[in-house]
Amino acid sequence: MLWKRLKNTLIVSRIDSLKYDDFDFFLKRDDLLGCINGNKARKLAFFEKNKHLFKKGQKFISYGSSQSNALVALAIFCYENNFELIFVCEKINSFLKKNPHGNYLLALEYGAKIVENNDFLNKKAKALNLINNEDIFIEEGIATKEAEFGYEQLALELDGQLNENVDIFLPSGTGTSAAFLAKHSKFRVYTCACVGDEDYLKKQILSLNENYDFSNLTILNPPKKYHFAKPYIELFELYKDLKQKCNIEFDLIYDMVGFKTLIENKKMFSNKILYIHQGGLDGNISMLKRYEYKFQANK
Ligand SMILES: *Cc1c(COP(=O)(O)O)cnc(C)c1O
Repeated sequence: MLWKRLKNTLIVSRIDSLKYDDFDFFLKRDDLLGCINGNKARKLAFFEKNKHLFKKGQKFISYGSSQSNALVALAIFCYENNFELIFVCEKINSFLKKNPHGNYLLALEYGAKIVENNDFLNKKAKALNLINNEDIFIEEGIATKEAEFGYEQLALELDGQLNENVDIFLPSGTGTSAAFLAKHSKFRVYTCACVGDEDYLKKQILSLNENYDFSNLTILNPPKKYHFAKPYIELFELYKDLKQKCNIEFDLIYDMVGFKTLIENKKMFSNKILYIHQGGLDGNISMLKRYEYKFQANK
């Protein structure tokens, strides 16, 4: 049996059946995959499988936000394997430096070397400049071609777990997860852009995978324009409501825009939705602090 064979591979998560008000859906629990969880675990599956090929002290160089889930996932991966992570951020504000918290703190605890860009045009230029011969460079958000491997596995896993036809939904940052899953899945995949708009998301996907065939991937629009990682009271209300009614914590940045989009477009789907929980709950620590600060009156 396919399912039996899959149990012997590295990564498998369960599927829950849930109801939010009158909305029935399946939830793929990639948030429960372990220390490195969610889509960052899927994205790193290739490196996880091939880690024996690298020597001790192998340098990984990446860049992005000092509170990103990608930073923590890479930090844990390097820590567990005696590799070294160098991660370039734009200037880190003095409050965070004095009061490390959230993903930034976790990454430091896992030994990441976090470098601020104060001399290059941007963080990517600085990260590229740090690369030596054998270093491995990882694009922001782990948007690498190697990530495809993990989604080929995820597509197989879903195929083995599901006895009915579903429509898959997952919100996008770089679009790496949605694009590679749609490429390999027999189920139709829907997403929405949480960074920029639909055109920006398409460009990101095309820069990852030239000539990408969008035929199995539908990009839906959120009901309004949400600026990336900015606190919105209605997203916070939705987060609390989902937590209370489904007994599950979702990510505040991507999942809340995802659920707004999903609920708004409910009529679009011909099959039951399988929502992929892409983890990243450590990222909520810093977002909750910002919500608390911004909407103190609504606590
Ligand atoms: C990184 C991340 C995303 C974005 O994934 P992409 O593959 O870049 O689209 C979405 N949700 C969570 C929780 C994440 O950590």
